[in-house]
Amino acid sequence: MRDLLQEIDEWGPEKVVCVSDARTGMRGVLVIDNTARGTGKGGTRMSPTVTVGEVARLARVMTWKWAAVDLFHGGAKAGIFADPDSPDKERIVRAFARRLADQIPASYVAGLDMGMTEHDAAIIQDELGDRGAAVGVPESLGGVPYDQLGVTGHGVAEAVDAALARQGRSVAGARVAVQGFGAVGAAAAKRLHELGAQLVALSTIDGSVHDPDGLDVPRWLDARAEFGDACVAKASAQQRIPRGEELLVDCDVLIPAAGQDVIDEAVAAGIRAGLVVEGANLPTTPEARRLLATREVTVVPDFIANAGGAIAAGFAMDARYSAFRPEPTAILRAVAERTRNNTVLVLDTAQADGVLPHQAALDLAKQRVRTAMQLRGRLPSIATA
Ligand code: NAD
Repeated sequence: MRDLLQEIDEWGPEKVVCVSDARTGMRGVLVIDNTARGTGKGGTRMSPTVTVGEVARLARVMTWKWAAVDLFHGGAKAGIFADPDSPDKERIVRAFARRLADQIPASYVAGLDMGMTEHDAAIIQDELGDRGAAVGVPESLGGVPYDQLGVTGHGVAEAVDAALARQGRSVAGARVAVQGFGAVGAAAAKRLHELGAQLVALSTIDGSVHDPDGLDVPRWLDARAEFGDACVAKASAQQRIPRGEELLVDCDVLIPAAGQDVIDEAVAAGIRAGLVVEGANLPTTPEARRLLATREVTVVPDFIANAGGAIAAGFAMDARYSAFRPEPTAILRAVAERTRNNTVLVLDTAQADGVLPHQAALDLAKQRVRTAMQLRGRLPSIATA
């Protein structure tokens, strides 16, 4: 714990609660980072390697993410130190919920993250006998299945459209390359196709595909639904390119939607797109971001472009005790509207302040949290600060 104590700063964490249960061997942690803007909300991660420091860092990311999308929830995250494939998973999840009964849902609402499923979220609700204890439960149990709507990819596509419109360009006819044809990448490709863009490259961990004349998006979505990552094997020999080259093809927009740090300085030097919209978390290294700025390539930062899941989770939070389910179209509309507005705000602010978009986004989120802390008397008032 000593390292975490050294990492406490003016923002948080406000509270770290470690729990254990001898009967099941459960060990868990809850980190409430900052609640100036609302009750702590963030996913629960189950992994045999999760650490208190990792959960604290993820809780801080949630503080900025909620503020960036301007929803009134606080940054929090929980971790369960266990194997998600354990046959004892249900007993472990129940023990975790029981031990945190004084925190959930008063100070923390659980949700999904790595290693946790809709079923596990339902178990937390069941154990605590409270529909407000978790979001992410299946629709059959009253949940809001926003993941199935492809909300994150939908928002990424809207960020592309908003950023192009800001440059006076149309998304219709724009040539787009997508790295990672998974939940985010495929949903982004689907929405961009609806908006009239042309998909010229896609990839999965199994390979990359390129066609300068445009790929048949509905056909590729069907292939993905049927074959998953192996869908790339359906490409013709001329369409196959070496893995990683999808980042470097001639296009207008590049969407990295797979892993982190895939765009380093060497890749950034070769990118031909004029706009990079980050679907994945942390796909661009800080050095690469600086190089892209000098090359006048616009980058829409990850926690602005891929915040659709957080925006939709806001609906699930509001619907916890309601008999009414939000309309899918209302969720998608809100994702589009907030993501578009944030994209333009961050790019305009970055330009006006002469900083990189990532810095502008972080400054914006910090300012919103700082204002809330001042209003709640947790920081010196604006006048005396
Ligand atoms: P996913 O597992 O559904 O899809 C990932 C895709 O990337 C798969 O097609 C996989 O084969 C591909 N891939 C992995 N490594 C690759 C490589 N080296 N080259 C090419 N393709 C590769 O995951 P996802 O949910 O779509 O998440 C993608 C990224 O977006 C992650 O960084 C995730 O943290 C981030 N993200 C996801 C969400 C969400 O709602 N799912 C929200 C915010 C951020």
